[in-house]
Amino acid sequence: MPYCVYCGNELSSEAAACPHCGCAVDRPNSPPPPPPYQPCQPYTPPPAYPDEPNTGLNIIAFLIPAIGAIVYLLKYQQYPIQAKSLGKWALIGFALRTAASVLLFIFFFTLSFLGSMRW
Ligand SMILES: [Zn+2]
Repeated sequence: MPYCVYCGNELSSEAAACPHCGCAVDRPNSPPPPPPYQPCQPYTPPPAYPDEPNTGLNIIAFLIPAIGAIVYLLKYQQYPIQAKSLGKWALIGFALRTAASVLLFIFFFTLSFLGSMRW
């Protein structure tokens, strides 16, 4: 039994279009399905757990923004709310880190500048 590549539903072997989502079945020599067409989105399985912000992931993203970015990329299709939340924390962590290193740079630059002056 073939399966629809867009929604994952079972197809009858003669069907030219999926009865569930209306997408054309990719089969050689089959006539195009009659309108109305629906937008054919590749099928993504339903989430295994609810899509909500995850505090642990947010903390990891905040502490290690690079990991946050990777997890964001892995999750944003199935868990957009959770991905957005941890992406936000990764950005905050990254911004704070950048600000801190700029401040440190200015601090040590000023120190060495003062140190180089002959009083
Ligand atoms: Zn389908």
